[in-house]
Amino acid sequence: PDATVYETLFGSLTGPDLERIAIVEGGSGAALTFGELRDRVDAFAGALAARGVVPGDVVGLIAPNGPGFAIAFHGILRAGATATTLNALYTAKEIGNQLADARAVALVTVSPLLERARPAAERLGIPAERLVVLDGADGHPSLADLLAQAAPPPEVTIDPATHLAVLPYSSGTTGHPKGVMLTHRNLVANVVQCGAIGVEGDDVVLAVLPFFHIYGMTVLLNYALLHRARLVTMPRFDLAELLRLIEEHRLTWLFIAPPIAVALAKHPAVDGVDTSSVRAVFSGAAPLDRHLADAVADRLGCAVAQGYGMTETSPVTHVTDWTDPDVDRASVGRPVAGTQVRLVAAGGADVEPPTSGPSEPGEVWIRGPQVMVGYLGRPEETAATLDADGWLHTGDLATVDDTGVYRIVDRLKELIKYHGYQVAPAVLEAVLLESPDIADAAVIGGRDEDGQEIPQAFVVRRAGSDVTAEQVMAFVAERVAPHEKVRAVEFIDAVPKSASGKTLRRELRTPAVS
Ligand code: ATP
Ligand code: MG
Repeated sequence: PDATVYETLFGSLTGPDLERIAIVEGGSGAALTFGELRDRVDAFAGALAARGVVPGDVVGLIAPNGPGFAIAFHGILRAGATATTLNALYTAKEIGNQLADARAVALVTVSPLLERARPAAERLGIPAERLVVLDGADGHPSLADLLAQAAPPPEVTIDPATHLAVLPYSSGTTGHPKGVMLTHRNLVANVVQCGAIGVEGDDVVLAVLPFFHIYGMTVLLNYALLHRARLVTMPRFDLAELLRLIEEHRLTWLFIAPPIAVALAKHPAVDGVDTSSVRAVFSGAAPLDRHLADAVADRLGCAVAQGYGMTETSPVTHVTDWTDPDVDRASVGRPVAGTQVRLVAAGGADVEPPTSGPSEPGEVWIRGPQVMVGYLGRPEETAATLDADGWLHTGDLATVDDTGVYRIVDRLKELIKYHGYQVAPAVLEAVLLESPDIADAAVIGGRDEDGQEIPQAFVVRRAGSDVTAEQVMAFVAERVAPHEKVRAVEFIDAVPKSASGKTLRRELRTPAVS
């Protein structure tokens, strides 16, 4: 039952599966079959070992989605090393912080990122021969060089229960990014638990969400490979290119984060595109507004599903049933197999299960085989998150209804306290997005003249709209309880979002000084 990630995804590859297309680079059309991918993973692992990488070493990987990422990622794991994947939008300083925190002994990147990645590699004493530049750069080995070496993969002994497969960093939405220790068993458990999502072997899967983030890593890269589906990769989100790929590759599953749902629901370019191949759109990483989800389903003529999770849970803990025509698209569905969930109220007691409708909100606690070992080098933060009984305290507030379906309210830390009432910014953001005048919005706890916390909205007007702050406040006031009213509005050009599609409310709280 216990296997490594490599054994799980590539171990039983035989016969016609070897000839199936595993991954296609959307832009160039370059493709690899499962057999070709496996052989390159083996060769990459062999070349890393030949360069002195041994089991337990940490290897950095910073590259856009594409076949090269897949080869390097699984090659690192195959060699018994631990992959720490980095956000390709990071600055040189952020790259340096993560590589140093993770103590990387080798780095894999691409030439456009070399300028940002090299200073950190040099500081850490990573020699040029262990700084792999996939597409080639003077003085560094390329992917072609590593494969041409044809070194056999090393014989390594990996205990899936304890051996760290990956060290991704949490998104840093609420504080500093933390290194999350995930074992082979964690990743294998979660990729199997993903079965509840419903991708099958004849599916063609959009891979625009970054593989470096745990969502793209498990739910796209590993999950599609496990089911012998086909991945079509994009290096970054671009609506026109995404629409082109839907038609060219007859994509069947679109994995997205809410900012892409906004584009699919509202952008005129979607009209006239043949989306008949699309079976389902699956959203995760941040709250998905019901009206937005319904609009995507109507416009594309497909199911809309949602999942919930976090880096600390590999990441998936809940998914909706995409085949259920009556699904509440704003819910996150039920726990995936083998996942225990508690909702714990502020006083520490479990929330009463409801006899009808939704329960009182409580903090989501998770226990299961996908829960991390801990944060690297942060014993206090680990102890504050993962208790002695193995329950992970997520910091997210949710309700459960009498059918066992969960709904995420918001992050506990981001609740606004207005005159003793708690107001969830995500609820107000969803209301704002219903307005035809509003293209995007974010809500934070601002301050009134007396220094009291108030719900404050940051609003992006739709092109051509000249809606006023008073009109925005009146629109919300008609739709919410009195204490939830938005009490200040500021217009902005764009809502700051992270690479994984989350609203960066902290950037609105403390505007960046340039
Ligand atoms: P950090 O922990 O460093 O502040 P982060 O929590 O944003 O960053 P991730 O692990 O990438 O880092 O994100 C997990 C969080 O994303 C969850 O705790 C939750 O707040 C949010 N999230 C994920 N999926 C959903 C969803 N479907 N609906 C609402 N929120 C979601
Ligand atoms: Mg978090």
